[in-house]
Amino acid sequence: MTAHAGEERPSTTHPDPMPVGPGQRRRTRQVVVRWDDNQVLIGSDGPVVVQSMTNTDTAEAIATAIQTRALAKAGSELVRITVNTPAAAAEVPAIREQLDRMGCKVPLVGDFHYNGHKLLHDFPECAEALSKYRINPGNVGSSAKRDDNYRAMVEAACRHGKPVRIGVNWGSLDQSVLARLMDANSARAQPWDAQAVMREALVTSAIESAQEAERIGLPGDAIVLSAKVSNVQDVVAVYTELARRCDYPLHVGLTEAGMGSKGIVASSAALSLLLQQGIGDTIRISLTPEPGGDRSKEVVVAQEILQSLGLRSFAPMVVACPGCGRTSSTFFQELADRIQRYLREQMPVWSTQYPGVENMNVAVMGCIVNGPGESKHADIGISLPGADESPVAPVYIDGERTVTLKGDHIAEEFQAIVENYVERRYGAKA
Ligand code: SF4
Repeated sequence: MTAHAGEERPSTTHPDPMPVGPGQRRRTRQVVVRWDDNQVLIGSDGPVVVQSMTNTDTAEAIATAIQTRALAKAGSELVRITVNTPAAAAEVPAIREQLDRMGCKVPLVGDFHYNGHKLLHDFPECAEALSKYRINPGNVGSSAKRDDNYRAMVEAACRHGKPVRIGVNWGSLDQSVLARLMDANSARAQPWDAQAVMREALVTSAIESAQEAERIGLPGDAIVLSAKVSNVQDVVAVYTELARRCDYPLHVGLTEAGMGSKGIVASSAALSLLLQQGIGDTIRISLTPEPGGDRSKEVVVAQEILQSLGLRSFAPMVVACPGCGRTSSTFFQELADRIQRYLREQMPVWSTQYPGVENMNVAVMGCIVNGPGESKHADIGISLPGADESPVAPVYIDGERTVTLKGDHIAEEFQAIVENYVERRYGAKA
């Protein structure tokens, strides 16, 4: 990726977009986001990238650096921070330096609204410390100032050689685009309904803003697009249309997904429908955390969506049955939870020490009905005794029954067996 004004660049729209099917990624340009020697590729030849956003006050550099590192440690490959005030912009270089001191090379994305043109101009060290800018063309000023402000932000990206996400949003749609499309709609013999006009306005705003950025001088391979809404059917319709009409990489997510299971389910539904069609090059799950909740949960959910769809692997998967009247205690639930947490906690070390371990499957099953069968399908599995069964737990490794555990230390012994298996099978590869 280069980002200098005046360079020859490819055309904005793809003349003959490749049809996409289940499991086949849509072909896009490729955008490189880098910090130091860490390079993140966004686009069809790279994996679908997981990103997240901090919720600390960016003006509090230490708190923001700590949360950024936690998100990166959980697996966020890009971390976005809001840059909303001069005080926040002034602290961005300190956040970057603190992360570098902690050995965290995750690229930082600056989120700009309203005053981004001014902040990027007044704080060049902030502009340099960020690896990518997010610009919302609906939030760059009123009509008279809009074009100048947008141009100033794109020129800053060109000057500093940074890629940009042009992120339009349902809640802050460029009103001039919407007004133009509503006028055109009223001239139709059969006008579209208001929702369809709104969706078209999002797509048009994103694509026209990208074309404008290219005219200003930003290379086509320095642009990622997003068009977020908070309703599953709308997000699927908008991104399907965007994918059909351009070949920019797409940042996909449901905006304001919500709290708890609602946010997770809605995001999973929307992203699964799109990713299955090959649409989506980077994702963010916009979960509202519970008060005091762990911000990293949005990263885990993003990873689990990608892993469940078979698109990427991040950590070993635990298959566990739901339990039923045949389970006599909560022991198997506790064991499944313990093993799942243990495996995820090991991954920061295991991912470099034991290549391929992220593809491992572990089964923890509650009784003899499906326990032995499911355990045989896993790389390593344990079938716990159900009600009225003899109190023993056979362990299966690579489909073969090995030891049978019993007594009060089944959990510890099974964890040790898993650890030995990982060392033996994946340590050899390293
Ligand atoms: S494996 Fe056994 S305990 Fe688990 S859900 Fe099936 S029947 Fe119930």
